[in-house]
Amino acid sequence: EENADHVMSLIRSIPGFPKEGIIFRDFMPVLADARGLSILMDALEAALPVPADQFDAVAGLEARGFLFGPALAARLGKGFVAVRKAGKLPPETVHEDYALEYGTASIEIETSAVKPGDRVLVVDDLIATGGTAKAAADLIEKCGGTVVGFSFVMELEGLSGTDVLAGYPLSTLVTMP
Ligand code: IMP
Repeated sequence: EENADHVMSLIRSIPGFPKEGIIFRDFMPVLADARGLSILMDALEAALPVPADQFDAVAGLEARGFLFGPALAARLGKGFVAVRKAGKLPPETVHEDYALEYGTASIEIETSAVKPGDRVLVVDDLIATGGTAKAAADLIEKCGGTVVGFSFVMELEGLSGTDVLAGYPLSTLVTMP
């Protein structure tokens, strides 16, 4: 409908970034647009994969999960947990390595940020292979937390990212090639 069309019209596609053969999907123009941002936040809240009373905190993945995550958490009256790229946080941290298309990456959270029994919703802008989101879930579970589900703005088709997260409730607002 009209709101979805408005948001879609604001998503920028950049062929060849960050490397040849990749089309980078850029959400920043959605955030820059007052109406776009408001539609997006309303849609994220409306599409929660589980009811808001079934989790205690929202975790966002660096960097673009830091844009939507705290805004969503504040709307829902939840706290926010930052899942950071390795090496940015002071100790103590919990660490998780995961595979990228080429090579590996590492993410961390503060050890005290997730306590045993905490129920956490994981938020990011986009799911491609699902590797980043799965690593974040492993991290939260290492701390004794429970991942109740995932909220993404966008899913890239054909990468089976959601298969990697099979068994978790998941919502995505838009799907693109
Ligand atoms: P995955 O681990 O392969 O699912 O990649 C998802 C992560 O890479 C997310 O944190 C995204 O922010 C980022 N990412 C991958 N492709 C894109 C893109 O086209 N636009 C924006 N972010 C992307």
